[in-house]
Amino acid sequence: MHIHHDALAVVRASAPEQPAILNRPHAAARAARFFVEKFPGKSLYAVKANPSADLIRILWDSGVTHYDVASIVEVRLVRETLPDATLCFMHPVKAPSAIREAYHSYGVRVFSLDSLEELEKIKAATADADGNVPEDLTLCVRLRVSSEYSELSLASKFGCDLANAAELLQATRQVADSLGVCFHVGSQSMSPHAYVQALERVRAAIVDASVLVDIIDVGGGFPSIYPGMEPPPLEDYFGVIDRTYESLPVSYSAELWCEPGRALCAEYNSMIVRVERRRGTELYINDGAYGALFDAAHVGWRFPVRVLRDQVANDEAEIELEPFSFYGPTCDDMDHMEGPFELPVDVKVGDYIEVGMLGAYGAAMKTAFNGFGATDVFEVSDEPMASQYRGDRRDPRVSDNVVSLR
Ligand SMILES: *Cc1c(COP(=O)(O)O)cnc(C)c1O
Repeated sequence: MHIHHDALAVVRASAPEQPAILNRPHAAARAARFFVEKFPGKSLYAVKANPSADLIRILWDSGVTHYDVASIVEVRLVRETLPDATLCFMHPVKAPSAIREAYHSYGVRVFSLDSLEELEKIKAATADADGNVPEDLTLCVRLRVSSEYSELSLASKFGCDLANAAELLQATRQVADSLGVCFHVGSQSMSPHAYVQALERVRAAIVDASVLVDIIDVGGGFPSIYPGMEPPPLEDYFGVIDRTYESLPVSYSAELWCEPGRALCAEYNSMIVRVERRRGTELYINDGAYGALFDAAHVGWRFPVRVLRDQVANDEAEIELEPFSFYGPTCDDMDHMEGPFELPVDVKVGDYIEVGMLGAYGAAMKTAFNGFGATDVFEVSDEPMASQYRGDRRDPRVSDNVVSLR
């Protein structure tokens, strides 16, 4: 694929009629190397954040060997893309046929669960013809933890309550070759303390159950940078996780895992959209709530934007900005993104806008509703609109968020 320098170069070269997704392989590779080098344990990529096969290959080439998959389709996708990857089926409620196919056809040995029913399901689906449960299972019990520090809660749907954890951990220990405890603090966790609080709950569960634990999996939730959301450096998260983990009563050979989705792929994609109509400070653009801007519409997420014009590149400082909201292309009133999105006061029909930081839960969310959703794809080499990994933060720590470039 031809590599353009940036979004403006794409617009000049092809004036895309439909939304265009821009891939930044260098940004995804840098994020992966950061986790591989600096997280004090193993990093599993949570595939749901962006299931692009190209992205998954980039992560693998950058050292990510383990993949958190949540459906049989994700199992097949990653196995077909990466024959040697380790797949971990971390959805606590699975169809028996999915467990069976994952175990018997795709070599999946790691499963999560949050109930005795799911444990029975896993036993039945992995057993051989004589009904013997295999001795090579790694089973991770998902604990319910608080989402209070996160922008998107994951606290209600999954996770075993502390009150039931001892029974489930003991029953799972009977079956598992390797026993893990996992949790998810919620996505875009704005404070490292979220992980300390969750790990203290893990400690209570282990003590209560008096079982030997082999894996502590702190899940996802590692943040990226968006307008109005500038989290502390990731080293701060890794530091407190490492210290708290070291003090847990686990097996001497225990492993620490994490499952970043957003943090590994947010910087991988941005999108070029076109203004089809302007009504005051409302812009009608050609992607929206049923496209890559799902989170912008449904949970009010803000993404960085810039208009793609030659003069903006020349004297950015002099352009007067004002807050805009967006309407997407479908006929649905809900196809509305409140923003605010700060753009030049003179934005007009026919202008192209780049929306940044759409690699996580953006590019992955596109649907074909109402006949929209077709997308062009380009590769660009410039920097993402924000980065956790460049060391250009306002408040860089001594260690600075930088990893070696290849
Ligand atoms: C969604 C999910 C992740 C990834 O979460 P991020 O907030 O994107 O890092 C990790 N683990 C599980 C089990 C998930 O459901």
